[in-house]
Order: sequence, then structure tokens, then C-alpha cells
Amino acid sequence: MKPFVPKRAFFEPKALEYPLGKELYEKLQDMNVPVSFTGSHNRVTGIPGKTPQEAFREAKRTMVVGVRKGTDFASCKPSAHYQLPLNTSCPSMCEYCYLATTLGKKPYLRVYVNIEEIFEQAETYMRERAPEITWFEGAATSDPIPTEYLTGLLLKTIEFFGSHKLGRFRFVTKHDKIEPLLSARHNGHTRFRFSLNAAAVIEKYEHATPSMAERVAAAGKVAQAGYPLGFIIAPIFYFPGWQEEYASLLEALDAQLPDDARADLTFELISHRFTKRAKNNILDLFPETTLPMEESERKYKYGQFGYGKYIYQPEVMAEIKVFMEGKLSAMFPQAKVEYFV
Ligand code: SF4
Repeated sequence: MKPFVPKRAFFEPKALEYPLGKELYEKLQDMNVPVSFTGSHNRVTGIPGKTPQEAFREAKRTMVVGVRKGTDFASCKPSAHYQLPLNTSCPSMCEYCYLATTLGKKPYLRVYVNIEEIFEQAETYMRERAPEITWFEGAATSDPIPTEYLTGLLLKTIEFFGSHKLGRFRFVTKHDKIEPLLSARHNGHTRFRFSLNAAAVIEKYEHATPSMAERVAAAGKVAQAGYPLGFIIAPIFYFPGWQEEYASLLEALDAQLPDDARADLTFELISHRFTKRAKNNILDLFPETTLPMEESERKYKYGQFGYGKYIYQPEVMAEIKVFMEGKLSAMFPQAKVEYFV
């Protein structure tokens, strides 16, 4: 896949007061990206699109460079203590993107340039929780890799946590342009996670993302660089041939991971589910979708605030769980399966 090049960029004027803002402004101009200004990174007008699909596609090619205001970080329970605000959205178009319901109709890519202030706040939280370790999640609102070659935000963050005894960082990506991070001084304090799926599922539903083989190869390089590794396998689908497909994914991983990466490995397993709201969003953006979203075939699981989910029937869930956990314990006996839902 080619690196992400925005079709247009918007800057908050204040972003130019920060070194990274200035650097990005010059880089984007050198790349001939049309740059204009916006009063606020939260209300960006000027992204074209007459239909929801067009607006979505144009937003996915729009980069907004801003200053993160306010000091508080959102909580990120149970996986981490706080979300670390670095950026939002990503240029890919996975039909079941977990951000689709939170980023609105125009999910433009936003990057924050006041990284030093963001680190200061992270230090405050670490001090408050000392001597306990504090965990920060860097991908709660984005896939941070596609813009990394422009911003260097992840590299700075990984090295920042590498130098802090009481801070730990984690993020997840479906992307494979990870080379700039391989030589980072991570000190084992960042868990580098990849979101994976069966090759056929990626091909069908995860538009503009690297293939399964490319992601697995990237994970192999990250393992060689000594990072603690993790994998989210999601969403797991139940379809004819699903066992062979998911077995091939795990075999590909098995072939790539060096022995010393296996002692500290985590897996998170999430079966396919949807809410009414997510289904409507998906149908708006991908009217031809073939995602299995027939409510009558699913079990309804009541959720908070009326957002119930349609999950697989209990016998299907049990079959998936037994198969996946069985394969994982045979192939990666030291790995920790953090959860299956
Ligand atoms: Fe959403 Fe991740 Fe796909 Fe980007 S790569 S569209 S953030 S699911």
C-alpha cells in the first residue's frame, strides 16, 4: 500500500505556534497538499460531499492539524487507565470500523501538535497514581500508523514512555508502515498490538488496509525489535470455511514470530456483533454491504443506555471460543488470551 497522502489539509492557526505544527505545514506544502485554515479542529467546514458516501470518502482524505485543548484525558477502562489523545480516525474504510458511531458523518483525520503539553498531563496522571503503574491507550479514537510518517507522534510517545518507570503505553493498528518505530527506545514499556482477521474477511470488508500477510510480516518485524506484542482478532465471523480461514491466520503468525516473542504475547478475541445504530450507519455508507446483520439470526444482548447488541447465538459463540482458544493454546502455549467476547 502507498503511504497516505491527504487530498487537503486544514490547520488551526494556533497549531503553527508549535514546532510540529510548523514542520507539518512545510511538509504538506512541499507535498503539494492544498492547505487552508479552520477556526476549530472540532468544526471543520469545507469538506465536500453531496451524499453520505461521498462526504465519508472525502473526509477520509482530509487531515486537520490542531491543538488539543483542555487537560483531562478520557478514561479507557478496562484496558487502560486513560486514552492518550494523539489523533483521530484513519484513511482506511473498514465496513465495521469501531469508530464509525463516534466520529460522525465526516470522520476526518485529526492530529494534535501540542504533544509536549499532552505528555505533561500524562506525567500528572502518573504522579497521582504512583507507585502504581499507569496505562495509556493510543488508539482509542484512531489508527495512529497511517499519519505517523508525517507526524512522528507515536515514535515520540513510545520513547517518552520508554523513559518513565511508572507509565506504560499500548496501541493497536491494522497497518504495516511500522519501520520508523523499530529502532525506538521503547524499553519494553509499549505493547504493540495488531488487529488481524482471516485473509478473506480483510479482503471483503477492510477496504484500503494492508493484507493479512502484510500485517503478519509487520508483526514479525515488531517482534524482532523486542516490543511486547499483542493481537486483536476481530471481528470473528462464522461462515462456511471459517475454521480453515482462522487456522491459516494463526499458522501465518506461527511462522513469523520468533521464539523469544512468544513468552509475552496477548490475544483479544471479539466475535462479530452489531447494534441497530451501527447497522444503520453501515447501510448508509456501504449500501451494498454483504456483512451478516440479520437480527433474527442473532441473540440480543441488553446493553447500557439502551444500546443492545446483536451477538451470535450461544452455541455459535461456544464453537468459536473452543476452536480459537484450542488453536491458540496449541500454537502459542505461553500466550495470554485476555478475553473472548
Ligand atoms: Fe476504523 Fe481501524 Fe479500519 Fe481505520 S483501520 S477504518 S480505524 S477499523
